[in-house]
Order: sequence, then C-alpha cells, then structure tokens
Amino acid sequence: MSNNRAGRSNSTRRRARKTWILNTFGNGNTVFCNWCKKRLTFTTLTIDRYPIPGARGGRYREDNIVPACKSCNNKLDDHSS
Ligand SMILES: [Zn+2]
Repeated sequence: MSNNRAGRSNSTRRRARKTWILNTFGNGNTVFCNWCKKRLTFTTLTIDRYPIPGARGGRYREDNIVPACKSCNNKLDDHSS
C-alpha cells in the first residue's frame, strides 16, 4: 500500500492490471486475446479498455478492461467510430 515514489506508480499499476487480467480471464500464466483468441503471456499481453474505449473516456477499471494482443489493441484504436 505504501508507495512513496509517485513516478513509479504508473508501471506498478500496469503490472498489477496485467496480473489481474491473467488471473481473471486466464489461468494465471496465459490468457487469450478477447478478439482474435491468440494466446498471450504476461509479456505479449496488452490491456484494452472495453466496453468503453479510451477515446470515449473509458478508464482502466476492472469492469472496463479485457485482454488483447498488440495488433488487435492497435486496430481497435483506429476503429473509434
Ligand atoms: Zn488479438
């Protein structure tokens, strides 16, 4: 809980989100892309804001994030209509 280094909290939170995604959507080690069902690991996993995308003010909250591979995550950013 005690995080004195404000500059570090961002990547710490991102890691925590990834771990949460792996445990919640996968088996703790691997998880499947929400869109193309490609298998992802902690290293290849990216987190997509869904159902509310970032362009519409979606937050990285546990009820608005899904596992996505890098290419799907990039594609979805383009499809912001
Ligand atoms: Zn994908």
